Amino acid sequence: MIDYHLHTVRCCHATGSMDEYLAEAQAKGLQEIGFADHFPLALLEFAPQTQVTMNAGELEIYLRDVLALRERSDLPVRLGVEVDYLPGREALTGKVLARYALDYCIGSIHFLGDWDFTHPRYVSKYGAYDADKLYRTYFKTLQALAESGLFDIVGHLDVIKKYAFFPKNDWEDLLRETCRILAGSKICVELNTAGWRAPVKEAYPSEAFLRECLRLGIPVTLGSDAHCPQDVGAGLSQAVSLLKELGFSGVTTFAGRKRFVLPL
Ligand SMILES: [Zn+2]
Ligand SMILES: [Zn+2]
Repeated sequence: MIDYHLHTVRCCHATGSMDEYLAEAQAKGLQEIGFADHFPLALLEFAPQTQVTMNAGELEIYLRDVLALRERSDLPVRLGVEVDYLPGREALTGKVLARYALDYCIGSIHFLGDWDFTHPRYVSKYGAYDADKLYRTYFKTLQALAESGLFDIVGHLDVIKKYAFFPKNDWEDLLRETCRILAGSKICVELNTAGWRAPVKEAYPSEAFLRECLRLGIPVTLGSDAHCPQDVGAGLSQAVSLLKELGFSGVTTFAGRKRFVLPL
């Protein structure tokens, strides 16, 4: 069991020390963990209304802290980041990411325009949207994320459902088209258990997405998206059972941005 999506206090909305995250992972018997804190939006020249990432100046310290933790840990600790995909800033994102020797890079969407639709503070804005159009916009952006080739893993694939705002019409075609593009761009999908703890109470992505991923041979990895030590490993046994039940035979791990398979 691995947990590739751990945050740290540096992102301004997480608690606990990295040693506490590690201790929790050891107590829960995880085989491998990876930190993937929110990459500084300032380095991508984007200024959100609410700060939700590290500051530019904190990145080097974060990278050093993870490597130092790896040194004193018996459990393998991977070095990752969770980076916002910002349409139109692909070249800048690629240039900035190339500076760091990472094990993996998670690409996520938290913003549509300047709206942080994942933030509880801005939930009321959903009311201004037609859900069918919103899903289309979100998944078209996600397709561009995959096609950018910038990331190893797509984070919380269908996080647009976080507050249980769903389209009225069938959107099966959009789901299929998205998976076809994910498969074509060879990106890995994380089964992110934070959805079970969110208002939607459903993992990211849904079983329908996972079935399509399996059918198309899209690799999967695992993450809790923990923002506090007690959430490290949360929901992972349920996630592993679900993957096995669906017919997945392994999960993907990363080192130096190369992939390995851990059999389930
Ligand atoms: Zn976060
Ligand atoms: Zn995220």
